[in-house]
Amino acid sequence: MSLYESTVFAQGRFLTYDEARVGLLTHGLNYGTGCFEGIRGYWNADERELHLVLLREHFERLHTSARILLMHIPHSVDELMEIATELCARNRYEENVYIRPLVYKNAEDVGVRLTGVDDAFAIATIPFKHYYDASAGLKACVSSWRRIDDTMAPVRAKITGGYINAALAKSEAQMNGFDEAILLSSDGHVAEGSAANLFLVKRGKLFTPDPTQNVLEGITRRAVLTLAQDELGIEVVERALDRSELYAADELFFTGTAAGLVFVNSVDHRPVGDGRLGPVTRALRELYERIVLGRETKYRSWLTPTYAGRRVSAA
Ligand code: PMP
Repeated sequence: MSLYESTVFAQGRFLTYDEARVGLLTHGLNYGTGCFEGIRGYWNADERELHLVLLREHFERLHTSARILLMHIPHSVDELMEIATELCARNRYEENVYIRPLVYKNAEDVGVRLTGVDDAFAIATIPFKHYYDASAGLKACVSSWRRIDDTMAPVRAKITGGYINAALAKSEAQMNGFDEAILLSSDGHVAEGSAANLFLVKRGKLFTPDPTQNVLEGITRRAVLTLAQDELGIEVVERALDRSELYAADELFFTGTAAGLVFVNSVDHRPVGDGRLGPVTRALRELYERIVLGRETKYRSWLTPTYAGRRVSAA
């Protein structure tokens, strides 16, 4: 099935991707006045089930983003969860997927603002392989671009227009031969990657910037903090981090819905530890990967099944 034939949810109903058109003058497209989510579904071939990961948390964050942007989503979190699973079932996926809910200002006229402009809501889905080719780890650099400050645009909301910041940083990193950028905040502390949160391990403790460091409050970040504490018994510290702490780290890794847990092998040409996947990152990554496939009974509540109990089956 091509993307254009796939089923999406738009204008309050299920349509094909091709039918759900957006006009050239749409506010969201011209001014970046939208907010969105990125959600993953993992296909478990043994169970013949597509597990959607932390679906409620993503739709709660979407509601928060919309509230910050004075936008209205015409569906509750529970309704959104139902629509998303129905959508995946209608597309009869038997592979990993990425789900992209989007709320945007949809008037087709000129004049940037948030008030007095109607909102639209849509969800599209797409088969998903790997965000990074990262078995050997990522070469990261500290970006010359600073992470947008919360005094400039709300960093807690996942705002479409805000991603120009990520795009500039990521492109600069790649054009300079790196895989990923690490953005500092405007006061010079470590913020995050272009679309992922950042963790470091030092003397067996896990550190990550606290939520006041202009980071997106990542859902994978929260999951990893929980797993580190509850399952690995590791002390976790959320605080401002300096650039040189990146160079001194024993292990460094990114977390994100798309990225999963991916280790960084060097920062600004300095190897992280011995440049290989470290034990804490490995343990967290293996646990996270088992959880998203539904292989950890204790964490089945993090997953929403697509096909279980549904009339449309994957077969
Ligand atoms: N920071 C930014 C800027 C992001 O775009 C993302 C991806 N959503 C993340 C962090 C990681 O967040 P999550 O774990 O919720 O995907």
